[in-house]
Amino acid sequence: MTPAGKAAGETPLMAQYREIKARHPDAILFFRMGDFYEMFYEDAEVAARVLGLTLTSRNNGGAAEVPLAGIPVKAADEYLRRFVSQGFRVAICEQVEDPKLAKGIVRREVIETITPGAAFSDDLLEGSRNNFLCALTMQGGVAGIAAADLSTGEFRLITATRHDADAMLARLSPREVLVAAAGEGDMGDALDALLGPLGALVTPRAAWEFDHERAADTLARQFAVSSIEGFGVGAADAPALGAAGALLRYLKEVQPAGLPHLARPVVERSGGTMPLDEMTRRNLELVESLRGGEDTAGTLLGVLDRTQTPMGARLLRQWILAPLTDRAAITARLDAVESLAGDGPARTALREALDGVRDIERLAGKAAAQRATPRELRALGDSLARLPQVLAAVERTTRGGLLATVTQAWDDAAGLSARVRATLVERPPVTVGDGETIAPGVDAELDDLRSVATGGKDAIAALQAEERARTGISSLKVGYNRVFGYYIEVTNAHRNSVPADYQRRQTLTGAERYVTPALKAFEEKVLGATERIGAVERRLFEALRAEAGSAIAELQAIGTRVAQLDVLAGLAEVAVREGYVRPTVDDEAVLEIVRGRHPVVERMMPRDQFIPNDVLLAPDARMIILTGPNMAGKSTILRQVGLLVLMAQMGSFVAAGRARVGIADRVFTRVGASDNLVRGQSTFMVEMAETSAILHSATARSLVLLDEIGRGTATWDGLSIAWAVSEHLHERTRCKTIFATHYHELTQLADEFVSVRNYNVAVQEAGERIVFLHTLRPGGADRSYGIEVGRLAGLPAPVIARARALLRVLEGEQLVPALAGRAGGARTREPGADQLALFGGPDPVVDRLREVDVNGLTPLQALALLAELSAEARGERPALPGGSGAAAAAVAPPTRRA
Ligand code: ATP
Repeated sequence: MTPAGKAAGETPLMAQYREIKARHPDAILFFRMGDFYEMFYEDAEVAARVLGLTLTSRNNGGAAEVPLAGIPVKAADEYLRRFVSQGFRVAICEQVEDPKLAKGIVRREVIETITPGAAFSDDLLEGSRNNFLCALTMQGGVAGIAAADLSTGEFRLITATRHDADAMLARLSPREVLVAAAGEGDMGDALDALLGPLGALVTPRAAWEFDHERAADTLARQFAVSSIEGFGVGAADAPALGAAGALLRYLKEVQPAGLPHLARPVVERSGGTMPLDEMTRRNLELVESLRGGEDTAGTLLGVLDRTQTPMGARLLRQWILAPLTDRAAITARLDAVESLAGDGPARTALREALDGVRDIERLAGKAAAQRATPRELRALGDSLARLPQVLAAVERTTRGGLLATVTQAWDDAAGLSARVRATLVERPPVTVGDGETIAPGVDAELDDLRSVATGGKDAIAALQAEERARTGISSLKVGYNRVFGYYIEVTNAHRNSVPADYQRRQTLTGAERYVTPALKAFEEKVLGATERIGAVERRLFEALRAEAGSAIAELQAIGTRVAQLDVLAGLAEVAVREGYVRPTVDDEAVLEIVRGRHPVVERMMPRDQFIPNDVLLAPDARMIILTGPNMAGKSTILRQVGLLVLMAQMGSFVAAGRARVGIADRVFTRVGASDNLVRGQSTFMVEMAETSAILHSATARSLVLLDEIGRGTATWDGLSIAWAVSEHLHERTRCKTIFATHYHELTQLADEFVSVRNYNVAVQEAGERIVFLHTLRPGGADRSYGIEVGRLAGLPAPVIARARALLRVLEGEQLVPALAGRAGGARTREPGADQLALFGGPDPVVDRLREVDVNGLTPLQALALLAELSAEARGERPALPGGSGAAAAAVAPPTRRA
């Protein structure tokens, strides 16, 4: 039976449950019953499966039993974490009246719903990354994104093209995305494509919630303004506005108590930053390694992250994923890094001052949401108190670029910090009442109450001495227990000496316990004081927390400034430690890297083992065809160039002896081949889709890095595609390109086009062995040494020997067709260059005829072969080495011919 169906004779409690559950059908309902949260029906079954809880049952009137699983309220956080991390929503339903006062069944209400995107608790958050909840809508090919991080209060509106939306979403890497429920036709497919790689929980919402006119009202109400004009939202931002409306509506649902700490939205437009598509982020291993997972080891982020605060770590991730394209903005960051890199003592002082600064953004968010504990509020105050030291350290430097901007608008909420530190004790408890929270001297009433409560001990000692003197009973004791309160205990031996005003309360085996009117009066005073202390402390703490919460906008701005300083200091630190240099960044079309290194690979080897290389790309040398043996280091150079450009454009120093970077509008990389079975695409399909995305989006200002194209299909199809793609990039797009390949035939492009250069990564041959030099030098390679690498990798000796024999045959035979009718080219052909046969070699049809073993053919095979060859001669299908069908049977294998 499901909760929707009413059981005959249902108990009132289950009726209440069913009614509440009906309003939260998509969430697991934690239904508070005393010290437990109970789950019923399917929720209980899910809990048993997901959390391994024991499934029991509860009677629901008559013979009906419903499945039940419960968790103690005390342990709820851990269960909640496990549910949410697996993508579930959990609605917390509390008893909202005192059971003692309730008439009939206790009133219950859902006070909040916790989802992966709407989470506050530290258990559910990761310090070094934002926890964004996004709403996404596609309207007329334009994507509107609204993003909120409840833990920090950040709120952003982004309108982007379909293509940039992918990069924007990846940068936010949301935990949860709200989309309009199905029924949007094509747009649905576009959404699927955007959402696929994110791995976020997708929450469908009614389509009308994304309406931008309605949204304007919702926003105005949330931020208590009469019009949203002041937010800088223009007509072009309508899609993002619509998304914001849906987002706020959802938040209102999951947090019915409201979101006082959500900052006013910041409108972001693509522009000024470089959108990085998924393949480039993945291939260059910017913040996630190809192995996947959360570990940043082996990524650019892992190398560059020397930040001291979670705010800095989060911002660095954002900077890496959004390199700048504006020269002035890049220079401002580089100037700042230079100031700090050049001043060791100031940098050290700054990093030390930052070291004790906790997560101001999230602590402030918690204060505003009235969730901060006394300990967290104190941490906020202490963190703010370190800011003057931070400023002092920065002021010691020349304060270049961004440093000047950040310190100009300096404000460290000194008043708030002083008040927090004066009001709270140095190490307050996690909950008010678990030990002293408010410092002495803050509140006169509190001080009085405390002296009564603690003075109690002295008073008891005095009272005990007094009674002993009065009764002459030296063993008389004054004590306290929870049931009877304060009492005077007299052993049976002295029973007869007890004065008349003693009233008996309790008889023990060897003693009697009494109270006196004086003791009663004392008791009332002490117990009253203890209770009052709790109430006064709570009142004072809540007022202080509200004060901090109301400063949320200020605190968020402080958090941003601290994050910037932290990132800049970290970049300066890594620059000094790793020997990076400041790149020259300009708007020219030249990319020149002298003694460049791969910042991640070099860290994985002993110091100075990495061999630096020079790369020059300029308008008259805009394409490099990079050949060389397997394992020589082609991919490393290719990625290194991409990484160094991105580092420069994010404002970092670079791993090189010298670098000049003409600002790229986009960096594209396509590396290797990988299946995307999740999206139902084969290796080759993925490769072609990625290549076509590059050809459609790259401009003359782009940097395109290709590591093999066309490997996922038959050799000649692949080579033809690789050639045509190169031609297109060189002739049409005219972008800077490095193409690493094992198709040595592509080195002929340099004969065809003036601005194509051949480079290879050198190896030294010693007999049949090779030594990798990892050095780039001009000219094409003629061999891949694949067999030698196979030997190094441990292929069995007979296989290696056979492969060498086959290779000799194949190289001698030139089983390669010529591609006819090559396009383009002629315009830029170097003077004097002859019309070379593309891959050389004689006519393939003649070639294949020579291979035919006529005596071995059946009449039927002969006919089929004739048809195939004649089709080939007419150019209807390419001749493939080895061919197919009848032709294959007729071609003698290499050994027979050898
Ligand atoms: P393949 O064609 O097989 O893909 P490749 O030419 O692309 O090979 P890489 O993967 O770039 O080769 O490099 C292979 C290994 O060589 C790297 O993992 C690295 O350890 C080492 N290597 C590459 N470049 C250098 C360098 N400049 N200095 C030192 N070691 C290097």
